[in-house]
Amino acid sequence: MTSITEGAHPASIATDSFSSLLSPCIVPSSSPKATFFNWARTFQCHPQKTFVPTTIYECRLITEWARREGKTLRAAGVGHSPSDLACTDEWMIRMDGMKDVLETDAENKTVTVQAGITLEDLHVHLLQEGLALNNNGSITEQTLAGIIATATHGSGFDYPVISSHVRELDLISSAEGAEIIRCSREQHKDLFLATLCGLGMTGLIVQVKLEVKPAFRLRESKVPLHIDYLLGTSLDEERLAQQPYGVSDEKTPLVGAGDDVHFVKQRNEQSMQKIEDIAKSAEHVRMWWYPQTGGVIVARANRTYEPPIKVASLFGNFFHYHVTQFFLYLATFVPRYTSLVGKWAWWLNENPVVQQDHSYKVFTFDCLYPQYTTEWAIPMEKTRDALAALRDWLAAEEADPKGQRVHFPIEIRFTAPDDIWLSPCYGRQTTYIGIVQYRPYRKSVPYEQIFDKFSHIMAEHDGRPHWAKQHGFTADTLRQKYDKYDDFFQVVQQADPEGRWRCGYTQRHFGENGKMPGGKRPVSSEEGERHMAFGQ
Ligand SMILES: Cc1cc2nc3c(=O)[nH]c(=O)nc-3n(C[C@H](O)[C@H](O)[C@H](O)COP(=O)(O)OP(=O)(O)OC[C@H]3O[C@@H](n4cnc5c(N)ncnc54)[C@H](O)[C@@H]3O)c2cc1C
Repeated sequence: MTSITEGAHPASIATDSFSSLLSPCIVPSSSPKATFFNWARTFQCHPQKTFVPTTIYECRLITEWARREGKTLRAAGVGHSPSDLACTDEWMIRMDGMKDVLETDAENKTVTVQAGITLEDLHVHLLQEGLALNNNGSITEQTLAGIIATATHGSGFDYPVISSHVRELDLISSAEGAEIIRCSREQHKDLFLATLCGLGMTGLIVQVKLEVKPAFRLRESKVPLHIDYLLGTSLDEERLAQQPYGVSDEKTPLVGAGDDVHFVKQRNEQSMQKIEDIAKSAEHVRMWWYPQTGGVIVARANRTYEPPIKVASLFGNFFHYHVTQFFLYLATFVPRYTSLVGKWAWWLNENPVVQQDHSYKVFTFDCLYPQYTTEWAIPMEKTRDALAALRDWLAAEEADPKGQRVHFPIEIRFTAPDDIWLSPCYGRQTTYIGIVQYRPYRKSVPYEQIFDKFSHIMAEHDGRPHWAKQHGFTADTLRQKYDKYDDFFQVVQQADPEGRWRCGYTQRHFGENGKMPGGKRPVSSEEGERHMAFGQ
C-alpha cells in the first residue's frame, strides 16, 4: 500500500474528505484481510472497515475519522492472541504495516521502532547491529505492540515480562485532533504504566523505544525428570537425589511415611524449595510436563558466546510432525487413544539434548498445531500445590473411561515481579502454567470442560489469567486480583472517555452492569457472544 503524504492537521480536515484521503490504507471488503482471524482460527470477526496504515499521520487520520463517525476502533497486531481480544465488529486498524526501525542507539542500548514491527524482523535487525532483546516468549511472529499490550512473557526467574523493557511509548489520543502523547516513567507515568499491559484500551501505540542488550547466544540443555520427583511424592527419592534430573519409574504417588500432617507439610515445603531451586538453576528455565507419562522436560538456558550447536528437534522433524498430527486426529474419534499419543510425544522428546544458538532461536520453538489454550499466572510459592492439584485431577480423568482427555505438554514458566498495573506478574514472583488442546487439521476438539476445571484450579491458587488467552474473569474478580484495577480505569477514563478503544472482549471482562467503568456507551459485539466462563 502507498502511504499518504503528511498534510493538514487531522482536526482541520472536513469529515467527508477522510474516505478518499485514506483510501490507500482502507482494505477492500473483497480482500481476505477484511476478515480477521486469530492464528489458531478459533475466533474471527468482520469489521465494518479495516485499515492498514504505514505512517503515524495515517493512524491519526483514522482515529480522528472514527471519532467524528462515532465508531469504536480496535488495534490488531497479527492476531496471535488465542482469544477474541483483538476482534471487533466496528473499525479495525491492522498495525502490521507499521514496521519501520526508526533509530538504533548501540551506545545507550535502545532501539526505536514503529509499533507494528514483528519480533522476527526486530530480532534480525538487532542481530545485525550486535544487539538483542533481553528475553522472548516461544515465538517471534507477534507485533511488538501486541506483545506490550498483553504483557507477553518468556521464562526466567529474574526476567520480567517483555513490556518491562519499554522506555518510551507514543500513543494516539482519542481526543479531537488525534494528537500524539509521549509517555514514559518520566512523563505521563500513569498512562505509561496502564498502557504497558493496556490491552489496547488506552489508545493506539504507534512508536516504541525499547531497551536492548548486547547480542548473545544461549546454551540450552533439556533433561527429563518425573513429576513425582518435583512434587516429592516418589518412593525412590534417594535414587533420584543421586541423579537429580533422572526419570523415576515409580508410578505410585505417595505420602511417604503416611498421612502424618507434619510429614506432609515438611515434604511439600521441601518440594516447593526444589521447584524454586530448579527455576533458579539457570537464567531461563522452563518445563514441559507430559501428564500421560508423568515425564517433565526441564530446559535450562544460560548466556554463552560459544559457537552454535544445532539440534534436529524430533518434533520439528517433518515425519514426526505429520504422524503426531494424524494420531491426534485419530484420537478425536477414539478419545482413549489420546494417552497413547501423549506417550508417543514423550518418547519423541524425552532424550537429553543440548543446543546453542542466537538467543531468539533458542527462546523459540515450533508451536505445532492450531490449538485452544489458556494460561494462568500464579504466585511462585503456590507452584507445588497447584501442580499437585493438577496431577490429581488429571490422574482422575485418565482413570475414568469417560474422563476428559488432555493434550500435552503442560507448560510451566517462571517470571520476575513487575510494577505494570494490569500485568499478571504485578508485585509477585510468578509461575505461569499453560494448557493446550490441539486442533489436528483444524478439527474442533472438546476443550471447554478441561479449561474450566484447569482454570478453577489455577484460580484457587490465586491465579491471574493471561489476558491474551481465554478466561472467564470479570470486573468483580479482577478488581480483587489487581491492586491497581481502579487506577487503571481512571487512566482509561481520562485517556478515552468515549470508549473509542473498546471491544466485545473488554466489554465482557471489564464491563459492569453492561457498561465499561467510565465508558459512556456499551460496545456491541457479535464476538462477545462467544462468552467463556473459565475460572469463574
Ligand atoms: C503460538 C503462540 C505462542 C505464544 N507464545 C507466547 C509466549 O511464549 N508468552 C506469552 O506471554 N504469550 C504468548 N502468546 C500470546 C501472544 O504473545 C499475544 O497474544 C500477543 O498479544 C500476540 O501479538 P499480536 O501482534 O498477534 O497481537 P494481537 O493478538 O493482534 O492483539 C493483541 C492485543 O494487542 C492490542 N494491540 C495490538 N497492536 C496495538 C497497538 N498498536 N496499540 C495498542 N494496542 C495494540 C490489541 O488491541 C489486542 O488487545 C503466544 C500466542 C501464540 C498463538
